[in-house]
This record gives sequence, C-alpha cells and structure tokens, in this order.
Amino acid sequence: MPDHQEIAEQLRARLEALQRRTDKVENSLRRERDHDSQERAQEMENDEVLTQLDEGGLEEISQIRAALTRIEEGTYGECESCGEQISTGRLGALPYARQCIDCAS
Ligand SMILES: [Zn+2]
Repeated sequence: MPDHQEIAEQLRARLEALQRRTDKVENSLRRERDHDSQERAQEMENDEVLTQLDEGGLEEISQIRAALTRIEEGTYGECESCGEQISTGRLGALPYARQCIDCAS
C-alpha cells in the first residue's frame, strides 16, 4: 500500500487555511447583521458574496475531510466508479479526486 503521508499533510494544511478563511467570513457575516436598516441593501449584496465564498470553502473542506478519511482507511487513490488507481498526476493536481480521469470526464 502506498504511503500517502505527504498528501495527508498537504491536505491538512489546506484544510486549516480554509477553516481560517471560513471563520473569517462567518465573523464578518455576523458583524454585518448589526448594521442599521439603511444599509440593508448594500449589506445583502455583501452577504450574498460572502455566502458564496463560504459555501465554496465548505464544499472543499468536506472534500478534503473525505480524502483524509480515505487515506486513513487505505482506500485513497482508488477510483470510486471503476476501482482503478487514480494516476499520481491527477492526484497531484486534485488531491481529493474521487474518480480516475476516465470516469470523471
Ligand atoms: Zn474510474
């Protein structure tokens, strides 16, 4: 079984950075709600942008968590669809890929 320790470390570092970012987004979302109603329109616009950012980050966080779980279980690098090994090139570009390039395309 290949050792994915290095990838796991990269994923954990990325996870931490993402969590810091989404924490920041959440804090600023909370702050925005304290504003006057006069600023409501602008506020909602900001909220939308921040919420989108947040969702993108949360999605990636869950992908990374799933990849870390697969590393622990020893199933990391296997295609979910066909069971073949995902190429290291693809995993290098997308460390939390669940499918080989053939199944993903
Ligand atoms: Zn496949």
